[in-house]
Amino acid sequence: MAKTKTWKLWENDKVNEEESKLLRRKADEIPIPLDENSKKDIKILIDAFLARNDALGLAAPQIGISKKMVVFKNKNLDERGFVKSDKDYDILINPRITQFRGDSETSTEGCLSCPDISVEVARYNEIKVKAYDREGKKINKRYIGFLARIVQHELDHLDGKLIIDRGGSIYVPKEKQEFFKKLFEE
Ligand SMILES: [Zn+2]
Repeated sequence: MAKTKTWKLWENDKVNEEESKLLRRKADEIPIPLDENSKKDIKILIDAFLARNDALGLAAPQIGISKKMVVFKNKNLDERGFVKSDKDYDILINPRITQFRGDSETSTEGCLSCPDISVEVARYNEIKVKAYDREGKKINKRYIGFLARIVQHELDHLDGKLIIDRGGSIYVPKEKQEFFKKLFEE
């Protein structure tokens, strides 16, 4: 499977203006019942996700589609490698968090759209989500722990929000300090 390009805020010490604009947009709702066009986009997102072994999740804006859908691993979260079965990932269409529960915990996150850095982000330990599945059927989900963190991260993408917007400490590799210093001071 060919790897789909991932849109990034910056790359090789340069800001990607055009890609940033789309990543920063609020994604559009997908019409329900699903039309052919949306079904095609859903397949593009799933294929892009399945073609990578370095992503826990992927939101549609990260591959240049400004629509409300995300896909993410739902098990074996500690293992790197390709997702093998349809049961090993969830896809959520027009997802909406209806409940946050438990304490919020801070941990470092990375993001394919913010290469080279990691950021401390506070997330709730448990969430409930209403969404549609890939057939356009209503679903209710509950996620806890690390999986809840992944889902909150992916859903942020649909609001045009990235880990650097969450206000936590940002960790930058030594050799790129100059570029990021300039970037985050602006
Ligand atoms: Zn991300």
